[in-house]
Formats: sequence, structure tokens, C-alpha cells
Amino acid sequence: MRILVTGGAGFIGSAFVRNILRNELKSSVEKLTILDSLTYAGNLQNLENTLSDKRVSFVHGDIRDRSLVDRLVSSHDQIVHFAAESHVDRSLHSPSTFIETNIVGTASLLDALIIHAGKRMIYVSTDEVYGSVAEGRSTEKDPLNPSSPYSSSKASGDLLCIAYASSFGIDVLVTRCCNNYGPYQFPEKIIPLFVTNLLDDCALPIYGTGVNIREWIHVDDHCRALSLLLVKGKAGQIYNIGSNFTISNLALSQKLLMMLSKDDQYIEYVADRSGHDFRYALDSTKIIDEIGFVCDIDFAAGLDRTIAWYRHNEEWWRPLKAGSTRVR
Ligand code: NAD
Repeated sequence: MRILVTGGAGFIGSAFVRNILRNELKSSVEKLTILDSLTYAGNLQNLENTLSDKRVSFVHGDIRDRSLVDRLVSSHDQIVHFAAESHVDRSLHSPSTFIETNIVGTASLLDALIIHAGKRMIYVSTDEVYGSVAEGRSTEKDPLNPSSPYSSSKASGDLLCIAYASSFGIDVLVTRCCNNYGPYQFPEKIIPLFVTNLLDDCALPIYGTGVNIREWIHVDDHCRALSLLLVKGKAGQIYNIGSNFTISNLALSQKLLMMLSKDDQYIEYVADRSGHDFRYALDSTKIIDEIGFVCDIDFAAGLDRTIAWYRHNEEWWRPLKAGSTRVR
């Protein structure tokens, strides 16, 4: 396998690189190239220990650079497309970057797949494209109903992938995963933000009343699902990737407070996020039945490991938190 990983210096992309170099596919990886423009969210430190592998190389570049993308797609067989602007709050401040990277950038990869036949691409999308579901769980057949510039730009990528697969016969799969957590997640997302705030004895800013519900999966489980889909997934198909574990933001915060030996006084309610979806929940029956994927990592155990990681890797998150433009 010659694999191109876009956005491989980000949170999930770097976890995917680490995972595929040590899981059951490791011996079939002939070459792995990471294409990343190193935005504020991209960090070469996320790839330490993997860049020394002779099969791995890093290309500093933008997915919107069509000649670069064309050249890289032509020399690989499998593309796992993570590169994106990924933070909802930032999308409320500057939607145009999201449109540029998440839609125009995805189109540039799809156009290269038309020219270079016989390649497979996984487009890594999100449960947020379904919008808020008051009850029940979203299946792959449900209509898209995104409500933020982030989720609508991702949903646009989903639609482009599905349309290109059907119009041009290219081999593209779309995955829609729930919220990820784990090591190396930029400390603006709720779990690393709250864990690092508590390590610093600071408050947890909770949007609205904290009733919003999210489904959570450990990043290693997500990456294992993607590896399975590279081999077993069917072209043109959409796969939800969930854990079935949902929790409100308030209950999650209380869990973190307990795990870090703090009390409720650290909770600070702040004005709600504009257009804040109430609940996401995925029906993951398809990937379980057709691909045989089941989550391994229980939320409490995964969270415990994640807290320990942030506790022991201050030198990773402190400079990022100090240099990051606060959007929350
Ligand atoms: P991230 O923000 O941590 O990483 C994104 C990476 O993409 C960064 O390394 C960044 O430098 C790179 N990038 C951004 N714009 C680029 C461009 N124009 N060209 C090349 N590289 C560029 O994001 P993440 O949390 O790792 O998410 C990865 C993917 O998974 C995204 O597509 C996201 O929509 C999707 N996803 C994320 C979650 C989650 O909970 N984090 C859940 C479901 C789906």
C-alpha cells in the first residue's frame, strides 16, 4: 500500500499514522506520505517517532495546490483525507477558511482521482453533518441538516464525494464519526481544554446550561475503523463510526472534575454558542455488521488515559495554549 494522508500532522491524522504503522496492516505499508499545510492545528511534534520510519515522508503543502495534489495522488494508491479546518467556534468567526479548505480543497483531491484512475480515497467526515437529533440515532440514509459553517462545509465535502463516485465512478468512501478524544488533541476542543484548565486550576467555560449531548469515541478506535475500511469498505458508500456512548457537556465536565479531584465551583456557565446543536448520536449498525468493527476502548478508561497523557505532556500543550487565539 502506498498511502497519502492529508492533514496527518493534526490530531486524528497523526493518530492514524501512528496506528497504521503498528497495526495488522503495518507490513503492507510500502510508503506513507503526509501532506499538511501546518496551520495552527498542525504540529510536527504530533508525528515524533513516526517520521524516522523510512517509509514515511512529510510534504509541507496545501490540499488546494492542484499541481502538488495531482503529483501526490498519482504516486499513491490510497488516500485518507483528514485535512480540514475543524473547530466549530472558529467557523463562526471566519467561515471562508472553512469553505476554502473543506470544500475547495476536497474538490482538488477528487479532481485528481478522476485523472488518476484506480485509487481509493476515504473522506473523513463528521456526525455533525446530520445536525441535531432530538431522539433516536442518525443512520447513513438520513438527510443532512448541518447548522454551523464547519458542519455545512464538511457536508458539502460529503456531497461532492458521493456525487463524484456516482458521476465518475471513482472509488471514494465517506465516513461520519462522532466526537474524538485522546492524546495530541489541540487544547481548544472541550476535553483537552477542560483537562488543561483543571491542571492549571482554572474554570471550565460551559456553553449555555451544558445540556448539549455528544457521542464520544477514542481516537485509536476511530483510526482502527478507518484502517478496516481501507481494506474492506465498499466504494461509494457512507459509514457512520460511533461508540454508542453519549453524554451531556455538563455530565462530562462533572466527570472531569471528579477525576481531577475538583469540585463544582470550577464550572462557569458562559453564553451559549450560536446555533449550538442540542444532540448528536449515530447509528453504527452498518460498520458493525458489514465491516466487523467494534469499539475496544471504554470511555472511562480512555478518559483516564487521556488525562494522564495531558498531565505528563505539558511541554506539548503549554506552548499551544499560550499561542492560540482564544475563541471560547
Ligand atoms: P485538526 O484540526 O487537529 O487537524 C487538521 C489538520 O489539517 C492540521 O494538521 C492542519 O494543519 C491540516 N490542514 C488544514 N488545512 C489544510 C490545508 N488547506 N492543506 C493541508 N493541510 C491542512 O483536526 P482533527 O480533529 O484531527 O480532524 C481531522 C478530520 O476529522 C477533519 O476532517 C474533521 O472534520 C474530521 N472529524 C473530526 C472529529 C473530531 O472529533 N476531532 C470528529 C469527526 C470527524
